[in-house]
Amino acid sequence: MKNHPGNHELITNQRAYFLDGNTQSIATRKKHLLRLKEVLRSHENEIAEAVYLDFGKSFFEVMSNELGLVYTEISRTSKKLRRWSAPKWRPTSLANLPGRSRVVPIPYGNVLVIGPWNYPVQLALIPVVSAIAAGNTVILKPSEITRHTSGLLARIINNSFPPELLCVKEGGVPETSELLRHRFNKIFFTGSTNVGKIVMKAAAEHLTPVTLELGGKNPVVVLPDCNLKMTARRLVWGKFHNGGQACVAPDHIYVHSEIRDRLLEEVKSNLDKLFKDDAFNSESLPRIIDEGHFDRLMQLIDEKKVVKGGTGDRNSLFIEPTIMENVAEEDPIMQEEVFGPLMPFLEFDDLDKLMDRLKRRPSPLCFYIFTGNTSRAKKIQRTFRSGGGMINDTVVHFVNGTTPFGGIGESGMGTYHGKAGFDCFSHPKTVLKKPTWFELWVKYPPYTKFKHMIIKAILR
Ligand code: NAD
Repeated sequence: MKNHPGNHELITNQRAYFLDGNTQSIATRKKHLLRLKEVLRSHENEIAEAVYLDFGKSFFEVMSNELGLVYTEISRTSKKLRRWSAPKWRPTSLANLPGRSRVVPIPYGNVLVIGPWNYPVQLALIPVVSAIAAGNTVILKPSEITRHTSGLLARIINNSFPPELLCVKEGGVPETSELLRHRFNKIFFTGSTNVGKIVMKAAAEHLTPVTLELGGKNPVVVLPDCNLKMTARRLVWGKFHNGGQACVAPDHIYVHSEIRDRLLEEVKSNLDKLFKDDAFNSESLPRIIDEGHFDRLMQLIDEKKVVKGGTGDRNSLFIEPTIMENVAEEDPIMQEEVFGPLMPFLEFDDLDKLMDRLKRRPSPLCFYIFTGNTSRAKKIQRTFRSGGGMINDTVVHFVNGTTPFGGIGESGMGTYHGKAGFDCFSHPKTVLKKPTWFELWVKYPPYTKFKHMIIKAILR
């Protein structure tokens, strides 16, 4: 691997590279994106192996929800980049006529992207794709917890790109803290809410704008008029995909008491089908990331409430997909983001009362509702404060690619994916062009009554 300079020198070099105009050409940005795709493609098997070593994620999942998402982001972005980056005409106000107004997306400059461990490839690289597309230079700091994946990304990316444009810096808390002391023009952070606050404080020192993609507890509401079989199937997939270690995972499920028993039965039988009643030996269920999370999750299991699963093996970091019923709001599992293969069910009777309680809690990243009455669900989604939401499914709005993804309040700020990603790393600069053959003479003193009348007539 090439030797890379220290942070100060690296950031200085990136800034100079940017200021010298090296990232301005759209053709060159596209070339870099396609190069990134080529580099990833040529190391697909190694990447899948690294993610597997980190937490037992299957090749299928690495292809479908890691590399596949990065590839489609690159394809879509390269195809649309010229249109997204073109200046857009906007109407000009009467007072500024006969001027002409355009909004020109300009890159911020040098960007820092900090990634989490739970999707160590796509959550690190999709922001990088958008940042490069928008004409920035990037330092990527992936998670130290998925060390095989981060090490590999550092090796293949740092060998393929000039560090002035894109460089991966590995490290944990001390290294990230050191990076955060420097001035960046934009910071994009994905991770926990607590660390998000640390990042925002550090960014404030330099008035650096931030996008924060954070966590939270995503509620699911299941109404009696839902398609029960499909609901059970989609809940099980959404919860246990990535071993439940997903920011968009359904965290806990409020089921209407009328269908509680039937839904639980369906969920249990779906679980058996997915893992052939032998989840321990399933190649399709990733392991828990580390001992700390294993211990935390095992403590959230209340044996008296378990209706399926409930066991774990610390040596192999395996926790059985677990379903808990009759969970109460005061239970430990309701006090933090679950982030693992535990599925707590709570019961409700009155939807209005439930929604009233939920809207007073910290705003989650996602809100999911299952019902046959989609107009009622749409009405609820329109007013409920969450980063995103779905009607009759979970998780997969994340992979849309064409719609903005991000949190609100405690679950984050700012959005990305597709055009939203390009916008996230661009400043919309208004450029108003004025001709020199005309001047609005009323704006100059002395401010007579007549001028006052004219201004009142124009500005209304
Ligand atoms: P984390 O906040 O512990 O770590 C994220 C990154 O921050 C890592 O690169 C880590 O090295 C760095 N970091 C950790 N502590 C730091 C500190 N004190 N100072 C500076 N940097 C520090 O998050 P995680 O455990 O990797 O990821 C899980 C969390 O991320 C969950 O809460 C999950 O919901 C959230 N998440 C959110 C999204 C989203 O899109 N909104 C996506 C994935 C994960």
